[in-house]
Amino acid sequence: MAMKTRRAGALVALLAAVASTSLQAQNPIIPGQEWPVHSMDRPHPAIVNPGPDRLPLAPPSDAIVLFDGRNLSQWQAGDSTLARWLVRGGYVEVVPGTGTMMTRRGFGDVQLHLEWMAPPPHGEGQERGNSGVFLMGRYEVQVLDSYHNVTYADGQAAAIYGQFPPLANATRGPGHWNVYDIVFHRPRFNTDGTVQAPARMTVFHNGVLVQNNVSLFGGTVHMALPRYTAHPDRAPISLQDHGNRMRFRNIWVRELES
Ligand code: MG
Repeated sequence: MAMKTRRAGALVALLAAVASTSLQAQNPIIPGQEWPVHSMDRPHPAIVNPGPDRLPLAPPSDAIVLFDGRNLSQWQAGDSTLARWLVRGGYVEVVPGTGTMMTRRGFGDVQLHLEWMAPPPHGEGQERGNSGVFLMGRYEVQVLDSYHNVTYADGQAAAIYGQFPPLANATRGPGHWNVYDIVFHRPRFNTDGTVQAPARMTVFHNGVLVQNNVSLFGGTVHMALPRYTAHPDRAPISLQDHGNRMRFRNIWVRELES
């Protein structure tokens, strides 16, 4: 019996090793980084309590207000038809299945402010309170209910998805507003389409620095290596419909280039 148990144990260990090896083989490592993309072994950042949420701050005088709680006049659906998310109570809520919502105008370098709230917890990992903020429709700051919800570090709240875990997990739980303040510098391309300078991002989550001027490896992808494809100097900011009833409010930008 003991022998059988030992053999069974060895078999389980072998199978686990094979499974882990094949997972590593599936998920590539970005050159210069230590961990395969979406690795569950990648260390998770420390949890930081950001304090209670507050009433939304008024936008500064030079901001372009993208959503003030009243209407979606600055937005459209991903296919350029009318945005179909639900506006009520001073926020806009994802209507699952209606797809991405994106700004009508394009932006390059910006300071972006937005606030989001997850619905009551349901599902695990990437299935719980998932959305995303895509600068230029390409470079995602992950929105996820990461309050007592473990997923791969480069896919939790305030990660640059698939590239950089946040420096801290400052997530407020469901029913509370989370605040993102993002400074984004678009990539610069040479005339032949090669990269002259990568995109850079700084992110504060509830006032906590979570991305410190990181240089992106390219556009956001899932389980693959990011890379750059040349694009115009301005492109819409988009918010992701990942099937969860996420809420957003108080969205504004300040343009950092004329
Ligand atoms: Mg997402």
